[in-house]
Amino acid sequence: MWKVRLPDAGDIDDQLDTALTLKSGEKVYDLSDAERAAIHSLYADYDQRLGEPDAALQPPALADCAEALHGAYNQVQKGQRLASLRSRLLSAVMECPLCGSGDATTLDHHLPKDEYRALAINPRNLVPSCQPCNRAKGTLAALAGQGMIHAYFQVIPAVTFLKANVTYAAGSLEVVFSIEPAGLPPALADRLTFQLDRLKLTERHPDAINIFLFSQKVAFRLFRGNPGERELLRQFLLDGADTLDQDLGLNHWRAALLKGLAACDAFLDDPWAYLDKPPPAMNAG
Ligand SMILES: [Zn+2]
Repeated sequence: MWKVRLPDAGDIDDQLDTALTLKSGEKVYDLSDAERAAIHSLYADYDQRLGEPDAALQPPALADCAEALHGAYNQVQKGQRLASLRSRLLSAVMECPLCGSGDATTLDHHLPKDEYRALAINPRNLVPSCQPCNRAKGTLAALAGQGMIHAYFQVIPAVTFLKANVTYAAGSLEVVFSIEPAGLPPALADRLTFQLDRLKLTERHPDAINIFLFSQKVAFRLFRGNPGERELLRQFLLDGADTLDQDLGLNHWRAALLKGLAACDAFLDDPWAYLDKPPPAMNAG
């Protein structure tokens, strides 16, 4: 969640040739040497600017071919000529880096392709994401790129900033995620908060939370009825959070959730009012 390893840019010329040539060999657009060089420097400029929005990334020298590059994004779809780029980028992640729970089945244009047309097939502007995140971000056309962190380029300090506030009553869990700004540069704290709010992660996570906690039910049972159950459970949750911090990196929502539960005495006193309910799949059925 939050960060993904920067993908290899790959063979840019080969990608351009593939995207701008029909199967028949007919060219969709015949790039001049100058345009090709300008695309290389545009991509390099994008990297240098860490994908931040800037008019410099809409160079007039590419005005003529920008339309063709924008249209060429179709070739990155499944079954099309640049589909290998798509599968390479998607296979680099286990889950959507924006929410940390959805299947990353789509590519999100970090800088929207309708505004940054010449960047439409730049691999480093294509971030794996789940459909709900991609859709939610898509409605932010005016803000896109400005408020959202870039999963490839954002530098994130090694501090814990994602917090889950858990309230629990009558077997019902309520979890609200928030960003703790302490230890973060203020602009980054704002950005993370913006992302959390705009992607509606708190509203979208209840299903994922239920599924995750029910998958832990067998482990919870080990402590049931033990003397000191409450403290054993608290330690189990904190140990679990530590393991997730190590395995998934700091600030995954699952680790934040376990820490939030460990801090919620009402839950520790009687987790069974929640866990003894039918599991989520049975509810859905
Ligand atoms: Zn997502």
